[in-house]
Amino acid sequence: MSSIYCHSCSVLLGLFRPELPDSLTGTSYQLAKYIKHTAPTGTYPYNSIFEDTGFPQYMEYIVTATVSGSAQLDDRGRVNLLYLAGREIGLTYAHGELLAPADAILVVFHDNQWKIHGFPVDSRDLVPSYCANCGAPIFT
Ligand SMILES: [Zn+2]
Repeated sequence: MSSIYCHSCSVLLGLFRPELPDSLTGTSYQLAKYIKHTAPTGTYPYNSIFEDTGFPQYMEYIVTATVSGSAQLDDRGRVNLLYLAGREIGLTYAHGELLAPADAILVVFHDNQWKIHGFPVDSRDLVPSYCANCGAPIFT
């Protein structure tokens, strides 16, 4: 079970430790992730793809999540950054079949400049939607 913290509480609690590198494709790991989430290949059983596959837009999503997103503490204790775009920004696939539209961005490994990357997710999968610290609804 994961929990979500609003941006203010995330900063207050020290959950935000962004390590934004100069390039988000600087390592082969990051380049592979960028390609994975911008070009449907059918290689992965489960995957999500950004609708705007350009690198400037990808960079903007990651930066936006880092600047104003919420923190998601997943069930393995990892901190992911979440940004609710409020509109469809991508699609999720399972075994080559379209699963659902995606309206949020999840940034993983946000505190590791060699691994940080992001991908679109369906916000309906993200529960709870209230801050675990102050109880405020999660808007961003
Ligand atoms: Zn809060």
